[in-house]
Amino acid sequence: MLAQCIVVHYHELALKGRNRPRFVARLVANLRRVTKGLGVAGIRALPGRVVLDLADRVDVEAACRQVADVFGVANYSPARRLDRDLETLRTAVSALIADRTFNSFRMSARRGDKLYPMTSMQLNEELGRHVQSLRPVKVDLSEPELTIHVEVLEREALLYTDKRPGPGGLPVGISGNVAVLLSGGIDSPVAAYRMMQRGCRVSFVHFHSHPFLSKASQEKAVELAEQLVRHQGRAVLHLVPFGELQRQVVIGAPVPLRVVLYRRLMMRIAAELALKERAGALVTGESLGQVASQTLENLMVINDAAPLLVLRPLIGMDKQEIIDQAKRIGTYEISILPDQDCCQLFVPKHPSTKTTLEQVRRAERALPIDEMVKEAVAGVVTQRVEAR
Ligand code: ATP
Ligand code: MG
Repeated sequence: MLAQCIVVHYHELALKGRNRPRFVARLVANLRRVTKGLGVAGIRALPGRVVLDLADRVDVEAACRQVADVFGVANYSPARRLDRDLETLRTAVSALIADRTFNSFRMSARRGDKLYPMTSMQLNEELGRHVQSLRPVKVDLSEPELTIHVEVLEREALLYTDKRPGPGGLPVGISGNVAVLLSGGIDSPVAAYRMMQRGCRVSFVHFHSHPFLSKASQEKAVELAEQLVRHQGRAVLHLVPFGELQRQVVIGAPVPLRVVLYRRLMMRIAAELALKERAGALVTGESLGQVASQTLENLMVINDAAPLLVLRPLIGMDKQEIIDQAKRIGTYEISILPDQDCCQLFVPKHPSTKTTLEQVRRAERALPIDEMVKEAVAGVVTQRVEAR
């Protein structure tokens, strides 16, 4: 037996008691979805790990690329599945190192089955000696050029050298649904990523000012969503016509309050869409103090319009940290493309940074808020987004 597989580890310590079976079941389901059609013959949840068994001669790297994006995966390795007897392990280790050059190595055995006749330590010594009988290489426990991992499980052993980091977090879907307010900017895509990493299935809501402005912001929103959904398979994107509402705010409300009034309208509209798809929260890319609308006072006033929990995963992050993460997750290059965001339309030079509820409520009494929300919701175009 020398079958190809991919072994996936998750952070067990982060899982509390009864959550674990749910976590593992969701992880397996998500892995199954993203590797469909790639030659995965079966996925097995074993104690402490998940094994994807691959059919003969399939492209291991293609399957690995998919696994690398699945939240809940702490690390993963392309591996060989073997019988557990020492002779088979020795032969497999010989084959494994046959075409490799290295000067130092380390054995890293783990015994998942405590009934196995050898301890991890004995396996390390036994197989380590075997390697040294084949090659004049030295053991280096701290910085070896090659680490040979052996996991002895109940029915099989897994052998691998290449342990790659996964994205960590919780499997998408385990924490419920949220609706992300996705602009074309740098911040909100990072906010979406962070919530997916905490196990949320996301949908996207984008407000645009077409036909007052070009369609560029919508195209960007689509591209950003496509980049992000590689972590959850697919998602819906709601495109909300917002220009007419902005026009009404401009005509009917004091200039310094515009931005906060736009945001309050966005909250109400997004909440309507979110409730329809049974999302438990809205998500924004707001970060404290970053722009005028993100003071404590204004955030409170914006929050007041949302009939739903609002999550702001970037609230305590520095802009540079957000940019660094945007680069890592592949959204930065899309976010910096020029566009015409709705927030550039009719924006005052000096927006109020200390808006009060009394001020906005007074301003909103002069506007047909309910109808405006209804009209925007009626004009929403919803599309399905697939990973690129
Ligand atoms: P971003 O980089 O995400 O655009 P920002 O720093 O530009 O954020 P704002 O423009 O004040 O900050 O927007 C704050 C949040 O409001 C955004 O992170 C996003 O969640 C939401 N938002 C703003 N504009 C839009 C839009 N056109 N469509 C959807 N959501 C939006
Ligand atoms: Mg923005």
